[in-house]
Amino acid sequence: MKIEFDVVVIGAGPSGLSAAYVLAKKGLKVAVIEKGEYPGSKSVMGGVLYMNPLKELIPNVVQLLKESKAVERNVIEQNMWLVNENSVLKIGHRNQKWKEKPNAFTVLRANFDRWFAKQVEAAGALVIPKTKVEDFIKNGDGKIVGVKTTRPEGDVYCKAVVVSEGVNPLLTMKAGLRKKDIGAKDVAIAVKEIVDVPEAVVNNLFKVEGDFGATIEILGSWSEGMVGIGFLYANRDSISIGCGVLIEDLRRKKVKPYELLENMKNHPAIADLLGDYRNTTKEYLAHLIPEGGYYAMPKVYGDRILVCGDAAMLVNSVHREGSNHAITSGRLAGETLLEAFEKGDFSEKTLKSYYDRLNDSFIIKDLYKYKDLTGTIEKNRHFIEIYPDMLNNAATKFLDVDGTPKGEEQLEILKMIRENRSLGGLTLDALKLWNSVR
Ligand SMILES: Cc1cc2nc3c(=O)[nH]c(=O)nc-3n(C[C@H](O)[C@H](O)[C@H](O)COP(=O)(O)OP(=O)(O)OC[C@H]3O[C@@H](n4cnc5c(N)ncnc54)[C@H](O)[C@@H]3O)c2cc1C
Repeated sequence: MKIEFDVVVIGAGPSGLSAAYVLAKKGLKVAVIEKGEYPGSKSVMGGVLYMNPLKELIPNVVQLLKESKAVERNVIEQNMWLVNENSVLKIGHRNQKWKEKPNAFTVLRANFDRWFAKQVEAAGALVIPKTKVEDFIKNGDGKIVGVKTTRPEGDVYCKAVVVSEGVNPLLTMKAGLRKKDIGAKDVAIAVKEIVDVPEAVVNNLFKVEGDFGATIEILGSWSEGMVGIGFLYANRDSISIGCGVLIEDLRRKKVKPYELLENMKNHPAIADLLGDYRNTTKEYLAHLIPEGGYYAMPKVYGDRILVCGDAAMLVNSVHREGSNHAITSGRLAGETLLEAFEKGDFSEKTLKSYYDRLNDSFIIKDLYKYKDLTGTIEKNRHFIEIYPDMLNNAATKFLDVDGTPKGEEQLEILKMIRENRSLGGLTLDALKLWNSVR
């Protein structure tokens, strides 16, 4: 028997599920094929999930998420820690507004993706787990008319395919939309542990209560000069702690990702915060993050095919925004296909409007804005190697009360800054940064 759907979505991550939700809500026959045991079983994220893209899809999503306990804590405070070997400079923002109007929740993807998949099923789509899409089925003209799966007699036919396969773009390449695999400078490897911490202790450590939570991003000495960021996120009764660096950097430095995480966990600021809870690991996870940005995007549309989320390289690593881009790109792919169904035309010409929609959205605008930032930092390692250290040393000198008159203290700080970076160097760095984000 020929199995036929209107649309096949490959991958039940945030991008695929969003596309499926939009299409199924309008009555189309949609199959979401997921290779994992269940949606989310293979997913890793820090993870901070922003609400805005989901609200555009499901208006009462915050209430539904809270009722179902599919999210961990409502993030009301975000912090950035700049560390050197012995000290930490902390910058943070806490906002009462976020208590009433949540901006983001911390999540564990195994819970969130499963919840999202249930909403997609309730909208009418069929979610098929434990099944891998291996290739496309093409007709005599070379047009995609379905997918081949690992199931016996598992060919599934359709009018259009949404590729939301995540960071490993095997099918995107098979479709000819990406010419070669993503390079080591375009992808970061992230390792993460979920450590068991009683709810009351999480509240105490992050100075929050009830369902509220906080996040900490960590930049500086732990990454040994590699381009990377660490994080500590408050979950309900656990903490997510992890870090990610570019694969190219790891290869160059010959360091293992888990060594870096240990490095970070042993930093005095983190050791002081977590104490023995650093060793209550209940899950250890590793995953790739596509960080190539604007320049590394594949072609995202073709005859009868669209590419969303990580498969399309839609991650803004500067703002740790990936899942929200995935959700929005999935929605836009779904809306593009709805129009194509109305017209009865699934040609590349019609589906190009997905790319136009992405271009008009914050996603491409943001990726374009930061397109040169990683390159600038890669070429100017001292941004990571010198500045966190210099700022910490300046703070120590400023705050150490050791009998030095304040005027002398300030001169010493200026001298210390000049020893690390000349006035010309500082100005040049400011210009380089400004040029790569303006
Ligand atoms: C450590 C880490 C921390 C992160 N932190 C954040 C954060 O705090 N905030 C944020 O917004 N983003 C974060 N991200 C990024 C975010 O996780 C991704 O951008 C997001 O998951 C992309 O969603 P997606 O649907 O495109 O891909 P994925 O979530 O990767 O989903 C792809 C799905 O496709 C399935 N699949 C793949 N190939 C096939 C196949 N051939 N057949 C069937 N199924 C297939 C996979 O099993 C998977 O379920 C983080 C990522 C990592 C690794």
